[in-house]
Amino acid sequence: MATPSPAPPRLELRQLTRRLPSGERLLTVLDGVDLAVAPGESVAVLGPSGSGKSTLLALAAGLDRPTEGEVLLDGEPIHALSEDRLARLRRRKVGFVFQSFQLLGNLTARENVLLPLEIAGARDAGRRADELLAAVGLSERGHHYPSQLSGGEQQRVALARAFATRPPLLLADEPTGNLDSATGRRVLEVLAALREREGTTLVLVTHDPAVAAIADRRVHLADGRIVREERRAGGPDEPVAAGTGVEPAAAGPRVEVAGRAAGSEDRQVARARGGARE
Ligand code: ADP
Ligand code: MG
Repeated sequence: MATPSPAPPRLELRQLTRRLPSGERLLTVLDGVDLAVAPGESVAVLGPSGSGKSTLLALAAGLDRPTEGEVLLDGEPIHALSEDRLARLRRRKVGFVFQSFQLLGNLTARENVLLPLEIAGARDAGRRADELLAAVGLSERGHHYPSQLSGGEQQRVALARAFATRPPLLLADEPTGNLDSATGRRVLEVLAALREREGTTLVLVTHDPAVAAIADRRVHLADGRIVREERRAGGPDEPVAAGTGVEPAAAGPRVEVAGRAAGSEDRQVARARGGARE
């Protein structure tokens, strides 16, 4: 009998190229990017503004189509799927967090978290929404509208929404870009804790080395190409490769997340201890 082949990468980009018209000529926004992200891995894509980070994320999600190259989710090529099939695949497999939160302003925090669960026809949607609001420290704010919440609180609601349907892959585009550094750090801690608890694969795009420090691996993009890569040397507490100027994740208020009880909906929740208030 043949030995079972190893699990494919959760996300794989092969020679990914995106060109866009710019006046008379074509601008090459991404230029032959190869990247494989293993199930459960977290990868930060770093690069200056305009280096192609958001384009890479949009292509990974099937929100944009490559000019050349391939995108595979769990080994399945997605770049050639119809819009319909792509939309269904995205709902099943991909969660998003955006710099600008993107909550629906006419829905409460709880309704925002409920929405993807209801679209997916999830059983126990209410319980899952409540559990996630608790995990991001917002149990008491579920009835508030986004305009009644601070930026950090809105982004924590967006995190609860992104994790709600347990997507295997989470894509985050500058998730702390609109937040001050203390608030941003708190949001990152909540993100890291949820990711760990749920076993979610993460691709995090940022221009900020302090944000990228939460990832297992850092990929540097410049002018649409990968120019450098660093992997955490050892365990999660090891500093990153020497000479990068990147500091290990800042010590700050800790977020504790209890392990997931197998098969139990009655999970313990993340609880922020002390730390900055928004
Ligand atoms: P980043 O997220 O790293 O700041 P982007 O992926 O948003 O970079 O953009 C990379 C480059 O592609 C930039 O020069 C940007 O101006 C250009 N670009 C992005 N989207 C478009 C578009 N729809 N039309 C024309 N140029 C675009
Ligand atoms: Mg961008």
